[in-house]
Amino acid sequence: MRKKIVAGNWKMNMDYNEGLALFSEVINMVKDEATGSQQVVVCSPFIHLHSLAQLGKGYANIAIGAQNAHQNESGAFTGEISAKMIKSVGAVYVILGHSERRQYFGETNELLAKKTDTALANDLKPIFCIGETLQEREANTHFDVIKTQLAEGLFHLDETAFGKVVIAYEPVWAIGTGVTATSAQAQEIHAFIRAEIAAKYSQELADATTILYGGSCNPKNAAELFAQTDIDGGLIGGASLKSRDFTDIVKAFN
Ligand code: 13P
Repeated sequence: MRKKIVAGNWKMNMDYNEGLALFSEVINMVKDEATGSQQVVVCSPFIHLHSLAQLGKGYANIAIGAQNAHQNESGAFTGEISAKMIKSVGAVYVILGHSERRQYFGETNELLAKKTDTALANDLKPIFCIGETLQEREANTHFDVIKTQLAEGLFHLDETAFGKVVIAYEPVWAIGTGVTATSAQAQEIHAFIRAEIAAKYSQELADATTILYGGSCNPKNAAELFAQTDIDGGLIGGASLKSRDFTDIVKAFN
C-alpha cells in the first residue's frame, strides 16, 4: 500500500523560536494519529531543520523536510545549502520545484532534474511539485504542462530512483488564494499523473507512488480531497502554520 502523507510547507514563515513551539504542539497533537502507512512531514526553513529533527526523534511517522536544495554537491555557491547538509541534520524529505521557486527563482524543469538527482544521491526523498497556472488551465493546456513537467523533471530517473519520489500536484491558481481545486478537478489530474507514471514505468510503480494535493487545502476541504482514489494526502501551506488546523488536516484521513 502506498504511503499517505500530510506535509506542511511553512515557506518563509516562523522565526526559530516560533517554529520550535509550533512543531512541539504539532508533535503532541499528531503523535497518536500518524500510524501505519500514514506519515506527517514538516518542511521548515533551513534554520529549524536540526532542532526539529531532534524534537521529532523517536516518532516513526513524523519526519522533517527542507523546502529547497542546491543542484551541486558542494562548492563556491555563497548562500546556498546542499542536499548533503540537509541530510546531515536529520531531514528526510526536500521539496523541489515548488511553483514559487519556479516563478520567483527561475527554476526550470532541467534544473529541477539535476536537483532531483543530487537530492536522491544524498538519500533525501524529493517532494516534487508540479502544476499549471490559471492561464494554462484557461487555455486548456494543463494536461500538457503536467506531462512536460513530469517528463523533463523526473522521467530520466530509473525505476528504483523514481520509487523514492513523492509527487505534489499544486495548481498555481489554488496556492494561497483560498480557491481550492474541486475534488473532481484534483482527482482528474492525479489520475492523469498516475497514468503517465504507468505508461513510462509500470502500473505497479504508479500504484506505489504517493501523489499529494496542494493549494488552499484546509480542515474543511481536506477530507473530501483525501477521499479521492488517487489523492494520497496533501502539501499544506497556510494551514500548516496553525497547529490545530494542521492536525485537523492530518485527522482528515480517517
Ligand atoms: P496554501 O496551502 O497556503 O495554498 O499553499 C499551498 C502550497 O504552496 C504548499 O506547498
